[in-house]
Amino acid sequence: MNSLKKYLLNSDGHFGKFGGRYVPELLIPIMEELQKAFLQAKKDSSFKKDLLNLYHNYSGRPTPLYFCENLTRKIGGAKIYLKNEGLNHTGAHKINHCLGQALLAKRMGKKRLIAETGAGQHGLATATVAAKFGLKCRVYMGARDVERQRPNVFWMEQLGAEVIPVKEGGQILRDAINAALRDLISNPEDTHYLLGTVCGPHPYPVINTYFQKIVGEEVKKQLGALPDYLVACVGGGSNAMGLFYNFLDDKKVQMLAVEAGGKGIKKEKGKFTHAARFQAGEVGVVEGFKSYFLQNSEGQIEETFSISAGLDYSGVGPQLAYLHDIGRVEFTYAVDDEVMAAYKLLAKTEGIFAALESAHAVAGAIKLAKNLPKNKTIVMNCSGRGDKDLFIVTKKLGDENFANFLKKQA
Ligand SMILES: *Cc1c(COP(=O)(O)O)cnc(C)c1O
Repeated sequence: MNSLKKYLLNSDGHFGKFGGRYVPELLIPIMEELQKAFLQAKKDSSFKKDLLNLYHNYSGRPTPLYFCENLTRKIGGAKIYLKNEGLNHTGAHKINHCLGQALLAKRMGKKRLIAETGAGQHGLATATVAAKFGLKCRVYMGARDVERQRPNVFWMEQLGAEVIPVKEGGQILRDAINAALRDLISNPEDTHYLLGTVCGPHPYPVINTYFQKIVGEEVKKQLGALPDYLVACVGGGSNAMGLFYNFLDDKKVQMLAVEAGGKGIKKEKGKFTHAARFQAGEVGVVEGFKSYFLQNSEGQIEETFSISAGLDYSGVGPQLAYLHDIGRVEFTYAVDDEVMAAYKLLAKTEGIFAALESAHAVAGAIKLAKNLPKNKTIVMNCSGRGDKDLFIVTKKLGDENFANFLKKQA
């Protein structure tokens, strides 16, 4: 294979044995229409210009690449740089592929966006671009997740989106995905399904990688040299692909992806206590694509556990599965306690609250930096900012004053 970069954006959507398009017959023409529109848009300089304009003037790109001088000194090893995707509009990297897909939807003449969401962050980013582009928006969310994530549901509604609690199955993310796919099959003319990461049937992994690769492109310019290591957290894989993609053909750059280790790599009462697909997952075909999934012996995907809602997912993008199998990206995990320690250390040394997802990358980078000499350079992706995790963090830290405040407000 000459260029991994070329291969991972290939137009048939297979990455070794991973990826593909395992969907009902009725969805095939819809995926083909999207693929065709994407390939045309990619060649159109006005599309690129519009996208860059949105990145710059709407989202605030380029985001800073910041040298964590204090953290580096504290750890006493390699230099740690932080790519601050948390400074994007809406507070995370998700806006990158949401803007790209909304622009594509407009180009295809679609009037309506639909999305699935677990914790609500992807729903929120989708509702944001729908408002901006004047598109109708419906977000499918498991009824149990609607209960757990009231603040995001409130914000989505404020943006004009309709949030549909899905009451089937386990009433969680995978049930929301199924509901969104049914909606798409019933409304192929006017609807675009805005899928939220580098998962799903072809062409979604390719499309979202294409819209996220701006992150690594900026890092290359900002650093002015190749880093020794890149570190990112992995839920579905979009922020990791965003950081890694532009460096894939630079053989000297090593890449570390950090999964959610939750309470450790084990099972309790038959349930996974983590979301580390590369530690305990198996290859399967779920939700339209082939990859590693945390599944039971019947091949059904299982629920996962993590302190961070965005990494709490049983599947992972097919391009990352391929990069794992060929050894180009190394995968590790951070458990919740390591994540909380990294979250606190970054705040105290640099004045930056990382999202709990991103704090997995921080934990991974800290461990790595300790064992490397001072002349090495690490770039970690801070995929989002921590404001959204207020309720989880105050609870985890047992902050009584905050609990009392909530009671009073109620
Ligand atoms: C959603 C989310 C993630 C996980 O999604 P990926 O597709 O793996 O990037 C990571 N960080 C933040 C801040 C998120 O909102």
